[in-house]
Amino acid sequence: MLKKTGIYAIVGLILVFAFLHVGFAPAQHTPRTTGTTLLGGIAFILMTCTIILSTRLAIFEDWFGGLDRMYQVHRVMGVLTALFALVHFFGVPKEVPVGMDPVVNSIVPSAPLGMLGLIFLVIGLFIALNRKIRYSWWRPTHKIMGIVYLLIVGHFFTAPEIFVEQYSASGVLLLVAAAVGVVSLFYSVFGMNRRTAIPFTIQEVNALERATEVVLKPIGKTLQFKPGQFAFVEVQGKNWNEPHPFTISSAPGDDYLRFTVKVLGDWTRKVREELKPGSKVLVRGPYGRFDAEIATNKQIWLAGGIGLTPFLSKLRAMKPGDARQVHLVYAAREVRDAIFLDELRARATELGNVTLVPLFSEEGNFARVDMMKKKLPDPLNSYEYFMCGPKPMVDGLMKDLKSEGVTRDRIHTEAFEFR
Ligand SMILES: Cc1cc2nc3c(=O)[nH]c(=O)nc-3n(C[C@H](O)[C@H](O)[C@H](O)COP(=O)(O)OP(=O)(O)OC[C@H]3O[C@@H](n4cnc5c(N)ncnc54)[C@H](O)[C@@H]3O)c2cc1C
Repeated sequence: MLKKTGIYAIVGLILVFAFLHVGFAPAQHTPRTTGTTLLGGIAFILMTCTIILSTRLAIFEDWFGGLDRMYQVHRVMGVLTALFALVHFFGVPKEVPVGMDPVVNSIVPSAPLGMLGLIFLVIGLFIALNRKIRYSWWRPTHKIMGIVYLLIVGHFFTAPEIFVEQYSASGVLLLVAAAVGVVSLFYSVFGMNRRTAIPFTIQEVNALERATEVVLKPIGKTLQFKPGQFAFVEVQGKNWNEPHPFTISSAPGDDYLRFTVKVLGDWTRKVREELKPGSKVLVRGPYGRFDAEIATNKQIWLAGGIGLTPFLSKLRAMKPGDARQVHLVYAAREVRDAIFLDELRARATELGNVTLVPLFSEEGNFARVDMMKKKLPDPLNSYEYFMCGPKPMVDGLMKDLKSEGVTRDRIHTEAFEFR
């Protein structure tokens, strides 16, 4: 669920800036100068917040409801930054400020820095939002956003006094934002945003139908996590490139850590075809706030395909006598695609409080609200929902549940992508 604390903090910061900027605008500022520099300042605050979120600090996961939500907010703020910056650019007066020497004005680098920053921002955003670009190329190119940020900081610092009173209250707020933003940028660029790596060796690589189970044995201490959380997995060796995020499918406290990996692209295919027992792996985490323990007792878990993994961990961790009444709806294309179905059936029988509802689209059964209405004993708005699966399935269910009167705070989702 998207927690609102982080959003409120960002909106609050923007409102404080707007109040200081407009309320204490110097007498020589025209309304146009005040308005367009206000938009420029808001763009700068938004961009600073996107950079701060890249630090992946645990406190921000609490504020936004998990790392996947942080990246969603990061993306929206990136787009808003560009919009505000464009209006600022086209609206801000271009003439030489009254009282300023034209020669001095021509050597002040503020305008060229701002223009360069804006050009790179638009290019960077185009790349960032383009899903056709492979992730392994996308990731390094996304780093140009760091250079954009430094250009914009330079633009602000060298802006003629007529536009930005740097030591006014709103100017000081932007200076503080710039300082925090630059520290956050270097924190992320130099990899300090990664949690401590815990080393493991590969114990087993099990080929399942359309997925691969990777079983890891800790070399020293193991990873502490809650059911439903995920971690970044980094295989040590040539050509394994960047870390990839996967939900931990084992239960906390198990001797081995398990990931269940669907073959989607080059890296996940390599896991299936080339990863061998004995290889070394670094695991960083845990991340995520997809936590069913803190929810009410009547819960619906909706899993689509590989979206089963967080529920697998939750089910493996559950003890007999658990007070929750859980309906696990597991949607797959056909029976052979439904990995771990036998284990789920056995766990449901053993636990007693879990009802398993497998649905196969090849048989014409889909995870839909009308089906839930028929199968569930109580009204839909009396349950709390946890969903993980393909985006169209999750979006469709979310819309239909809302129209059945289920409030957004009762629907929790985990997205298997960051961009
Ligand atoms: C929070 C989270 C939990 C996940 N849990 C699981 C799981 O339990 N099981 C499972 O099979 N998959 C899971 N995924 C998805 C998994 O990370 C991708 O399928 C995998 O990284 C694809 O890599 P690829 O190179 O084989 O495919 P590609 O075709 O290169 O990538 C497919 C998509 O995966 C994403 N992706 C690729 N590489 C990375 C990366 N290094 N970091 C972040 N995203 C990347 C991108 O959105 C990309 O468009 C999870 C993803 C997230 C964000």
